[in-house]
Amino acid sequence: MQITETRISLVGRPNSRLRAYASVTFDDVFVVRDIRIIEGKNGLFVAMPSKKMQRDCPKCGFKNPISNKFCGSCGGALNPVDEEKFTPSQQHRDLAHPIKTEFRDYIQERVLAEYKKEETK
Ligand SMILES: [Zn+2]
Repeated sequence: MQITETRISLVGRPNSRLRAYASVTFDDVFVVRDIRIIEGKNGLFVAMPSKKMQRDCPKCGFKNPISNKFCGSCGGALNPVDEEKFTPSQQHRDLAHPIKTEFRDYIQERVLAEYKKEETK
């Protein structure tokens, strides 16, 4: 599988670790959007699109992010989250991601190369 197009939208917030979003087309037939380019401690890296894990409010059934202590709809208290069970990274779930390290590296190299071109425009 090859990347046939990469589109970058710069975020442009100087204090944000999130630098840009990428939209990547594979083999001219499949697009993955909302890939994030993030400034980490050891330089830029690419994060796959992810979704915040949610849980239902026991009172009204509203879906809240798993880290919320109170319901965003009715304000009712939510059961405290078992912090050991859900580290911050486990509070997000990848929607799509490469299985092999080589393919992850390939995506990251291509996306960061496009980002650098876009950034210096
Ligand atoms: Zn509620």
